[in-house]
Amino acid sequence: MALLEIRDLTVSYGFITALKGINLDVEEGQIVALLGSNGAGKTTTLRTVSGAIKPQGGTITLDGKKINGLATYKIAKAGVTQSPEGRLLFAELSVEDNLRVGAYGLKTIKKKVVDAEGNETEVTVSAKQQRDEAFERVYNLFPVLRERRKQIANTLSGGEQQMVAIGRALMSSPKLLLLDEPSLGLAPLVIEEIFRAFQRIREEGTTILIVEQNALQTLKIADYGYVLELGNISMQGPASELIKDERLIEAYLGGNKKK
Ligand code: ATP
Repeated sequence: MALLEIRDLTVSYGFITALKGINLDVEEGQIVALLGSNGAGKTTTLRTVSGAIKPQGGTITLDGKKINGLATYKIAKAGVTQSPEGRLLFAELSVEDNLRVGAYGLKTIKKKVVDAEGNETEVTVSAKQQRDEAFERVYNLFPVLRERRKQIANTLSGGEQQMVAIGRALMSSPKLLLLDEPSLGLAPLVIEEIFRAFQRIREEGTTILIVEQNALQTLKIADYGYVLELGNISMQGPASELIKDERLIEAYLGGNKKK
C-alpha cells in the first residue's frame, strides 16, 4: 500500500473537466514529480489532495484511510500539508510568526522511543516541544531563516520567502508534503539550494509530491514521475527512466533545442 493512493479522480470546474479519472501513487519515503504543461491539472491535483477542492468522483487515501471529502484542517491533521504556488505568506508578519502559523493545532502526543539497549518506552511530547523541534528542523534546513527570523516576510527575497513557505508546511511534521511550483521566479542558485533541501527533507522521513515546470531538475531528485496532459496521466515511470524518454525530452526537457 502506498502512502498516498489516488484512484479514478475526477474534478470539474463547472463545464470544464480538469481531471478525468486519474490514478497516482506516492510511496512512503519517495519524492514523486507531477509534470505537465500549463492547464494540465497539476495544481488541481494538489489542491484536491489537500482538501481545498472537492472531487466529483474517485477516492484519495492516506495510509489506507480515505481523506477525500474531509475538511482541509482534518487532512492537515492526518499528515498532509501544502506549500502553495505563489507562497501566500502573511506579508506583515515576521519569519518566525509565519512559521508559527504552520505549527498551529499541534497537540501533546505520546511517542515510542527505543533506548540504546533496545527497550521501548513511551514519552509524552508537548505541543511546545514539537514546535521547538520543528523550528530547529526548519532553521537547520534553511540557515538564512534563523538569521532573519525577526524580519518581516514581505521584505525577504523571493528565495527566502519560498523557504518560509516550505518551512511553514513542515512545522506540523507532515507525512506528506505537497509542493506547487517551488522554483517559480527564482534564480538558478536558489533553485539548487531548495532542491537540495527537498532531498534532505526526504532523508529525514517526509514524503514529497512536487509539481514543477522545471522538469529536468525535478526528475534528477525524484524517485518516480507522472506526466499530466489535459486531465489525464499520459506517462509515468521511475524518474531515472523518464529522464531518458524521447517523448518527454521532446515535450518538456528542451528536446527541440538540441536539434
Ligand atoms: P499551471 O501550470 O498553469 O498552473 P496546472 O497544470 O496546474 O497549470 P490547473 O491549474 O490544475 O492546471 O488547471 C487545470 C484546468 O482547470 C485548466 O483548464 C484551468 O483553466 C481550469 N481551472 C483551474 N482552476 C479553475 C477555476 N477555479 N475555475 C475554472 N476553471 C479552472
